[in-house]
Amino acid sequence: MTSTTPPVRPSGAPAAGPAERAAALDAADPLTRFREEFVPSADVVAYLDGNSLGRPTRASVERLARFATEQWASRLIRGWDESWYELPLAIGDRIGETALGAAPGQTFVGDSTTVILYKLVRGALDARPGRTEIVVDTGNFPTDRFVLQGIAAERGATLRWLSPDPDAGVTTDQVADAVGPETALVVLSHVAYRSGYLADAEPITRVAHDAGALVLWDLCHSAGAVPVTLDAWDVDLAAGCTYKYLNGGPGSPAFGYVRADLQAALTQPIQGWMGSDAPFEMGPEYAPHTGVRRFLSGTPAVVGMLAMQDMLDLLDEAGNVAGSDAVRDKSVRLTGFALDLVDELLVPLGVRVASPRDPARRGSHVTIDHAAFERVIPRLWAQGVVPDFRRPDGLRLGLSPLSTSFAEVQVGVEAIRATLLDETASP
Ligand SMILES: *Cc1c(COP(=O)(O)O)cnc(C)c1O
Repeated sequence: MTSTTPPVRPSGAPAAGPAERAAALDAADPLTRFREEFVPSADVVAYLDGNSLGRPTRASVERLARFATEQWASRLIRGWDESWYELPLAIGDRIGETALGAAPGQTFVGDSTTVILYKLVRGALDARPGRTEIVVDTGNFPTDRFVLQGIAAERGATLRWLSPDPDAGVTTDQVADAVGPETALVVLSHVAYRSGYLADAEPITRVAHDAGALVLWDLCHSAGAVPVTLDAWDVDLAAGCTYKYLNGGPGSPAFGYVRADLQAALTQPIQGWMGSDAPFEMGPEYAPHTGVRRFLSGTPAVVGMLAMQDMLDLLDEAGNVAGSDAVRDKSVRLTGFALDLVDELLVPLGVRVASPRDPARRGSHVTIDHAAFERVIPRLWAQGVVPDFRRPDGLRLGLSPLSTSFAEVQVGVEAIRATLLDETASP
């Protein structure tokens, strides 16, 4: 058990406590005013799950209501011609510009990440005839692994599994050792969903290309929180969620990216009218659209694409007022502060940090492990402290740069400490 007396500085003056430090960090935060742009939740005192479901912006609540009356009710079917039809590509371009470092014409919105993964992986395999292996890692998100297992069975491909350190993630050397003349595709997460490890996307992409393989990056835990420059990294394919750090709301459709010069050589298996070359010709045969539209399938989820636009506005505004590095800087400071508090308040109780300590190797969440966390989590949620739980015993603290305050981190870690102490006290 640790002492309850506050740590003492060499000068003899008592060090500031966690709450004072959090207040000082919030006061110095150039993005602090953006927190006002999100709708508060009546009973939540620390929302630490912005990596799983971003909070709604105030603007989105208004936009959704306005859409129902001004667009759906009044424009009716005319809305398709006026703007809805183009929305998957128009918003795709916006996501590309704001969050992916992607020039226009390469990003689309539609389906879930799972379905986009399926479409792009199938397309990539067909574009590398004679190559039979897909490189993937055991730490990747379940849906990524499951989709790949399904495709491998369907197409007779082989999955070559990398086994990264679970507290970190896939290294360039591991990929270099795994790729070869059989490799069609490498599928990895840029930020590992459990550890928060930030992979070295550019060199990994390069070693895959050197072997003649394509690369697909899953950006679910990256877009909106960590710098991504797909064009500069020469990435082939990417996919990612919009309901996490892009605050699109529960089940908002995902984005996909296909590099411009690859599009003509890549087709996808869910051949629907919305991805055809002339959707309203109602012709007898499918021919894929010449542009990135070919990766769409059916009627776009227009309502699901509304809210993410407001988060894109806020991310642009944050960059304009505080500099292009401001969002990443805040993310690094939030996760750094969380780790400082974890070391101070939770490690002495037997909690283990399961995320990279090097900020350059970390996304915007940190995971901590303790055998009692499965019992702690419902008690935290009941107090309005909301991280999430990842098996076997991980608590994930997801810190969304524009909506999370340092005070929330402090309130959250102190609540975890109090609840853990109570949960592990002998009866
Ligand atoms: C959240 C997440 C998903 C979720 O995919 P859905 O199709 O939206 O359910 C997929 N991959 C990764 C890496 C994720 O973090």
